[in-house]
Amino acid sequence: MSGSKKRVVLPGEVVGTSEEFLPGEGTFEEDGKIISSKLGIVKYNDKDMSVSTEPLNPIVTVQKGDIVIGVVTGVRETMVIVDIKKVEGKDRGITGETLGTIHVSKASQGYTKDLRKEFRIGDVVRAKVMQAKPSIQLTTAYPEYGVVKALCTRCRGPMLRKGTMMYCPKCERTETRKISSLYGKMKGF
Ligand SMILES: [Zn+2]
Repeated sequence: MSGSKKRVVLPGEVVGTSEEFLPGEGTFEEDGKIISSKLGIVKYNDKDMSVSTEPLNPIVTVQKGDIVIGVVTGVRETMVIVDIKKVEGKDRGITGETLGTIHVSKASQGYTKDLRKEFRIGDVVRAKVMQAKPSIQLTTAYPEYGVVKALCTRCRGPMLRKGTMMYCPKCERTETRKISSLYGKMKGF
């Protein structure tokens, strides 16, 4: 048996014998046989002589405590709607609910009067998940959370950070945001 070829197995399928291998993740041993306990790809590990079954498509869902990156799709005085694009540390796309909200009370460490001055549609934000079910609730109330990329509301070009303000070099105008300390430093955004 070779570890280089991808072989998909069903639960209950024999993936080796206990003379050859040790049962690893996603397998169990029965009557001298090693059997897969789930649908997945068989992996033979030559180092510890184990065999395991790895899931075909590891599902990424938004969980409480996750740090997420998303795009602002709606802004009201007391609530921001964010379409979550990525969970930090996970390469795969998100399965399931991706829309989260930031309530005005969770936008910054201080008092926020009107979210329309802190977030704009199209901005990229980094936020922490406070609650994942039944709805995704986010917070940006820490310095490292908030807007990591802002688009000028007039020309839609990227804005530069100028102290505590956002500046569009093209339009020569400033705007306000709840700026993350990671503004302009996020890879891919
Ligand atoms: Zn502009």
